[in-house]
Amino acid sequence: MEERTKIVADFAELSEDEAALPGSGGGLSVDIADRMIENVLGTMAYPFGVAVNFRINGRDYLIPMALEEPSVVAAASNMARLMREGDGVRTSTTDPVMIGQIQILEIPDMEAAEKALSEAKPRLLELANQQDPVLVKFGGGARDIVIRPIETEAGPMLINHLLVDCKDAMGANAVNTMCEALAPVVEELTGGRVLLRIISNLADRRLATAEATIKKEAIGGEHVVDDIIAAWAFADADPYRAATHNKGIMNGVIAVALAAAQDHRALEAGAHAYAAQSGRYRSLSRWSKNEEGDLVGVLEMPMAVGIVGGATRTHPLARLSLKVMGVKTARELAEVMAAVGLAQNLGALRALVQEGIQHGHMRLHARNLVVMAGAEGDLIERAVEALIESGEIRFDRAQEIVRRLKG
Ligand code: NAD
Repeated sequence: MEERTKIVADFAELSEDEAALPGSGGGLSVDIADRMIENVLGTMAYPFGVAVNFRINGRDYLIPMALEEPSVVAAASNMARLMREGDGVRTSTTDPVMIGQIQILEIPDMEAAEKALSEAKPRLLELANQQDPVLVKFGGGARDIVIRPIETEAGPMLINHLLVDCKDAMGANAVNTMCEALAPVVEELTGGRVLLRIISNLADRRLATAEATIKKEAIGGEHVVDDIIAAWAFADADPYRAATHNKGIMNGVIAVALAAAQDHRALEAGAHAYAAQSGRYRSLSRWSKNEEGDLVGVLEMPMAVGIVGGATRTHPLARLSLKVMGVKTARELAEVMAAVGLAQNLGALRALVQEGIQHGHMRLHARNLVVMAGAEGDLIERAVEALIESGEIRFDRAQEIVRRLKG
């Protein structure tokens, strides 16, 4: 751990204090925690690791990941190595535009209301921007208004979408504040009653895309390429498979999100809603082969992340994660996360079409089981060996072995 820490510290030019942070138990003091949420009793630590081998748009990255699941960091790093043998991961993002929703009920004349809202766009946008001069100063702010009449169980409604460029913030607070400020004017313009004023987590105007080409020789030959495409096609056609396929993508995305103290619930909600946007829940990624028979993967998904606001600056370890990644904008963070999601997706697909997912997990799973069975210190590795040798990686076997080794 010491050697790893030194490598990361040299790479990211960390100070001694910064380098010591991950090893000192999670980096979040109880005092800070007590100011973050309610009824605080303490803090809870997660393993904090670093994914290696990532080359994104020609630049090398070390990527912090926080999660409890074994083999995710290893798989991401392995697949990043294969991607590196091509030209690494190519990424892009749209402008960081979030959608705020204003729900308008009891409108006397729908057509007149739509017309009034559309004519008042400049006034509404100006009022929205007055709420956040800092965001505007940094080049963001309200950009447009989209009016959507919808039919519901509770009758017809008009939904006013406020589109806001959130720049380097995730933007939920900023957008919610703007929507609340617009509500009285919207009521006045439409003659209706405003009920909800809240951000949408289906951030389909804030997309991140990652793409990589993996040489067929690197992945085990053209038959493996074909099998990976068939496995992807299964997910894209069948929601039962797609849920697990996309979960694999989120293994990567959310681990980076946690390490950087992002709103991971927003990311999960956005990803799955986006995956279902065609009316059927589908794969977030797409795998195909190029003329040379090499494997080409593309992941496109909403990525509402920030490097300012929320807990990104209050959590010391989150600040450190951003520094290790060296990301300078929220867009760059979104791109790194998409790259990790794509690598993770490939890791799962590759394992599934070849040896099966349990093979790679076996050793790590065995370690979890023996620890659960009470193994400590030196005994852990001995118990892991014995459990693997037994050929039955099960909890009852782990208990037996630990009991025997403990004498
Ligand atoms: P925030 O209000 O803490 O910070 C954003 C603000 O930072 C901006 O409004 C702007 O004034 C300022 N700022 C300074 N420099 C900036 C820059 N370079 N670019 C952009 N803004 C800059 O946080 P937020 O991002 O508005 O909201 C995120 C928080 O809201 C998260 O904690 C999230 O969990 C929470 N939240 C989420 C939801 C949801 O549905 N996802 C709902 C409510 C709240």
